[in-house]
Amino acid sequence: MKYAAPTSVEEAQSLLAGDADAKVFAGATDLVPQMRAGRPEPSIAIDLKKIDRLMALGDNGGSWTIGAATPTSSLTGNGAFSGDLPGLSYAAGLIGSDQIQNRSSLGGNLCNASPAADSVPAMVVNDARAVIAGADGTRTIPVADVVTGPGSTCLGDGEFLVEIEVDKPTANTSDAYLRMIPRTEMDIAVVGAAARVTLDDSGNCTAATIALGAVAPTVVRVPDAETALVGGPISDESLAAVAAAASAACNPIDDKRGTIAYRRQVAGVLAKRAVLQAAERVQNGGAA
Ligand SMILES: Cc1cc2nc3c(=O)[nH]c(=O)nc-3n(C[C@H](O)[C@H](O)[C@H](O)COP(=O)(O)OP(=O)(O)OC[C@H]3O[C@@H](n4cnc5c(N)ncnc54)[C@H](O)[C@@H]3O)c2cc1C
Repeated sequence: MKYAAPTSVEEAQSLLAGDADAKVFAGATDLVPQMRAGRPEPSIAIDLKKIDRLMALGDNGGSWTIGAATPTSSLTGNGAFSGDLPGLSYAAGLIGSDQIQNRSSLGGNLCNASPAADSVPAMVVNDARAVIAGADGTRTIPVADVVTGPGSTCLGDGEFLVEIEVDKPTANTSDAYLRMIPRTEMDIAVVGAAARVTLDDSGNCTAATIALGAVAPTVVRVPDAETALVGGPISDESLAAVAAAASAACNPIDDKRGTIAYRRQVAGVLAKRAVLQAAERVQNGGAA
């Protein structure tokens, strides 16, 4: 296996071009354990962390640009970012330990395509966009469309993720992410639930987005829960409808971390709590 450390997007592209066994990486916190577990080594391991654009966190006024290889600790450690997107920041801060977060990236979390990836539901509810470089230039697609199944993405040969764009929330809007793991930390989500809500000045919900992780091959949006919230206050009735819709939307597996019935139950509970936390953040005027 060769190692390469390009310093530009173009250089990375030329290393990838024409070599289907070449692979880019950021923190390698997924890549190295996977190789140790027996997955084939790439012909060239292309380190993205020497490319300034991929290591940046940019405040564009109305949006944030997150370099695909930017360490997750740069997100959680940025007060303005965490204030704008507290749910996404919290999700990034759940990934592994401090040591892992000094290496791990949102780009790697997304492109590794684990159904249990913590940051992906939080990116999806915030309508994040993925900027992908390839031989024909760059294309931008919803983050929600990147993962096509466990371990697989829509990225074609020679393509890699350059950055993730997320708009700052509009007025009276906030997000939240919660997950259930069998122990207190350093474990994989049994269920993850993200919510973003907008409330008007009377406390009525005018927009809502809810997404679940670890309960299906890819992140699941829950439109019935979103519809149940919009048009009225966050109430016991609307939250019960959110929980029922989230449980119904799951298509989970049975494994050592949880049964199908358990995952369905927990998805409902977490979706409800994530909505409540996002709404509390709106009412408190920011992160809580
Ligand atoms: C101890 C430990 C604890 C962990 N805990 C959690 C956790 O709680 N929650 C969680 O979600 N994950 C967890 N993980 C998994 C991992 O840390 C995360 O998925 C992390 O975000 C991966 O980022 P990375 O930069 O290290 O990815 P890498 O390992 O560098 O890459 C992962 C995959 O994505 C591909 N890739 C990376 N960057 C790009 C790019 N720009 N374009 C195209 N493809 C790319 C790589 O080729 C590889 O296939 C844990 C891992 C460890 C070792």
